[in-house]
Amino acid sequence: MYTLEEGRAYRHRKCQGETIIQGKDFSGICNPARIGNQTFCAVCMKMDRLINFRWVDTGENLKTYRDRMKEIATPFMKAWPSISAIIGAIAGGLFGFFVSWYFIRDITPIAIATFTGLSIGAIVMQSFIGTIVANSLGGEFYKNQ
Ligand SMILES: [Zn+2]
Repeated sequence: MYTLEEGRAYRHRKCQGETIIQGKDFSGICNPARIGNQTFCAVCMKMDRLINFRWVDTGENLKTYRDRMKEIATPFMKAWPSISAIIGAIAGGLFGFFVSWYFIRDITPIAIATFTGLSIGAIVMQSFIGTIVANSLGGEFYKNQ
C-alpha cells in the first residue's frame, strides 16, 4: 500500500531519471476522475506524456497503469472531466449571455460574452470545482499497485 507522504517513483524513458511523485500530484495522476496525459520529470525538468514513464517498482508503464485504473472506475468517474466541463460551459455561457443582454442588448457583444463565459466556465469548473469533486471520487486510487 502506498502513502501520499512516501509517494512512488517513476522512471523517464528519455533520460532514465527517477522522480518520486508525492501528495496531491501522486493522487491526481492515479485518479481516473482527473485528466492526466502528462507528468513531470524532476531530472530533466520537463513535462512528458505518461507513455514515456514507468513505475520503478513494478516496471508498468504509467499510461497502461492509468488505463487499468479506468477499467476499475465507475462510468461516472470516467465521465466526470467531461461532465464538469459541460456544466461549467452551460453556467458560464448563461452568465455571459444574461449579463451582456441586460447591459448591452446588441447581438455581437452578447455572442462574444456568451462564448467567453462558456469557455471560462468550462475551464474554471473543470480545473477548480471539478478537481475537488474528482478528488472525492477517485482520490484513493493511488493506493492501488
Ligand atoms: Zn527526464
